[in-house]
Amino acid sequence: MKIITLLSCIDGRFQVPLTEYLLNKYNGYIVDKITFPGMDKIFSHDFKNEQAFIKGSIDISFSRGSKSIYIMGHSDCTGNILSDELHIIEVKNSVKALKKEYKGIKVIGLFIDLDYNVIEIE
Ligand SMILES: [Zn+2]
Repeated sequence: MKIITLLSCIDGRFQVPLTEYLLNKYNGYIVDKITFPGMDKIFSHDFKNEQAFIKGSIDISFSRGSKSIYIMGHSDCTGNILSDELHIIEVKNSVKALKKEYKGIKVIGLFIDLDYNVIEIE
C-alpha cells in the first residue's frame, strides 16, 4: 500500500487541509494520521513517554508499508503555544530527531498557518 505517515496536532482546523495537501502531492496514496496536542513539541523536546507511545503508532504505519513521515506544526496551537517562527524551529528540530531515529526513512516537516498556507521544512 502507498502510505504516508502524518504526525499531526489534534487541532481539527488543519486535518482536512493538510491531508488534501499531501494527497495532491502524492496521488494514489493514503495518509495514516497520528495525532497529539502540540505534536511539534513532542519530538523537539525530551518527552520520552509521549514519544514511546507515538513511535508505537509509527511502527504500525510502517508495518502497513509507509516509508515516509511528515511532522506538522501550525499557527495558534493550543497544545504548544508559540510564535509561528518558534513553531518552524520546533518542526525543524523534530525532523532532525525523527531522522536520527528512523534512518533511511524520508522525514519532512510542515508548517501551516491560519490561511492554510503550507510550507515544507527539511
Ligand atoms: Zn495544535
